[in-house]
Amino acid sequence: MNEIRENPVLERIPVDGPCPRCGAEELRRYPVVSEGGWFQVVKCQSCLYSVDREPWSRLGPIQLLSDSL
Ligand SMILES: [Zn+2]
Repeated sequence: MNEIRENPVLERIPVDGPCPRCGAEELRRYPVVSEGGWFQVVKCQSCLYSVDREPWSRLGPIQLLSDSL
C-alpha cells in the first residue's frame, strides 16, 4: 500500500497593520527561499510589497540528519 504524503505547508502568519504601499491589511509573515538562502519575510498579499525581510536558518524548515551529527 502506498501512502500519499502531503507536502508540509508553510504557515503564513498574519501581521497586524496596513501595507505601506497599498494600504491593504493583508500583511503575512512567512519563510521564502532565494539566492541568499532562506529569509523570513513580511509581505503584503495584495500587492506583494515586501515590508520586512530577515535572514533565516540556512535550510529553512528542512532539518538534515547530517546537520545534527
Ligand atoms: Zn500592499
